[in-house]
Amino acid sequence: MSDGPLARQGVCILGATGSIGTSTLEVLARHPDRFRVVALTAHSNVDQLIGLCRRFEPELAAIGDARQTALLAEGLRKADLRTAAVGGAAGLVQAACLESADCVVAAIVGAAGLSATLAAARAGKRLLLANKEAIVCAGSLLIEAVRNSRGSLLPVDSEHNAIHQCLAAARDAHHAVKRLILTASGGPFLRRADLAGVTPEQACAHPKWNMGRKISVDSATLMNKGLEVIEANWLFGFEPEQIDVVIHPQSVIHSMVEFVDGSVLAQMGTPDMRTPIAYALGFPERISSGSPRLDLLQAGPLQFEAPDQHRFPCLRLAYQALQAGPSACIALNAANEVAVDSFLKRELPFARIPAVIQEVLVASRGAPPDSVEAILDLDDGARRQARSVLTKKIWAS
Ligand code: NAD
Ligand code: MG
Repeated sequence: MSDGPLARQGVCILGATGSIGTSTLEVLARHPDRFRVVALTAHSNVDQLIGLCRRFEPELAAIGDARQTALLAEGLRKADLRTAAVGGAAGLVQAACLESADCVVAAIVGAAGLSATLAAARAGKRLLLANKEAIVCAGSLLIEAVRNSRGSLLPVDSEHNAIHQCLAAARDAHHAVKRLILTASGGPFLRRADLAGVTPEQACAHPKWNMGRKISVDSATLMNKGLEVIEANWLFGFEPEQIDVVIHPQSVIHSMVEFVDGSVLAQMGTPDMRTPIAYALGFPERISSGSPRLDLLQAGPLQFEAPDQHRFPCLRLAYQALQAGPSACIALNAANEVAVDSFLKRELPFARIPAVIQEVLVASRGAPPDSVEAILDLDDGARRQARSVLTKKIWAS
């Protein structure tokens, strides 16, 4: 832990080689006087991880794929670095709990990030959460862990980061707030009537944001917004009826809060994740991010429209899962991860993604899980079911 107000904060990045991880490192590199990188993790790209270690010289590097641990250790030694190498699920948890890490950026994609994210929360870290699937699957455990460990949780997801900023204007949010309004760009297919024949390349070509492949597909189906509704429910404690979604193709307003007096506060900026990352890293202070400034005169008219839940059923499925409870949310997320993966491998047509999720969701049941093991069990069961739906159906493409 830091040993004084002037000590630099130690930062661990879970998922350092990804889109959020890279943007985080860019922000950190601007503030060497405030932060030092103490731990970095990646799934399997040893070379990229070693490259980051050369640049940031962390104490610890963790590779999720345990078979690569020896390769990582050897590469670090050859590079003459003192960075220790660990691997596998235990290695990720070790990075998340590292004594010198004051702050942990949770930027692994999918439920794969759950255990390490939860471990950071239990260790009382200041948790900067990008890994929305972790809170979708384990909202209750995660919030409780932060509370019990006297840690803190700051949202990196741009919509929740915007809401966090807007809520700062209310002393008693629960009485002051009427509803949260999450904005959605609408993704690459907002104006495309026929979703047959969509390719992974088309789905990943997001008009406004440059992101990892899984979240790009989620943005194209609107499941990303669905996951974000569930995320907002856990983060801010509002009922599903108080969380609305509005399509805003310009992505200038990142979300809004409507108060009981009729005021609506919006947070604006260019669509660049370095802004919410810098907000979360610096909070409660403001630090520079490197994002381009917003030029309202160039932004053009700002438009808003209702989401088309008929063409994009994933949003409706997510609201249904939220109403049904935690087990349904786990099933929704797991089925989505399996379906998106299958689409990216060109096995499942894009337009069939919602049908796979719906089939798994309908069959999901059970009491709310009360441990990570129970969550991972439900996650595993839903994945197996989603895979069996995929193998049983012959999809017309
Ligand atoms: P990405 O695919 O670019 O990066 C994912 C990172 O996680 C990589 O470092 C990868 O090595 C690691 N990883 C993947 N699978 C792993 C596994 N099984 N075990 C250990 N590590 C693993 O993804 P991203 O776009 O950076 O998104 C990361 C998270 O942040 C996601 O949950 C996403 O929804 C969320 N998020 C991303 C953005 C964005 O702009 N990219 C915005 C908001 C929220
Ligand atoms: Mg978002």
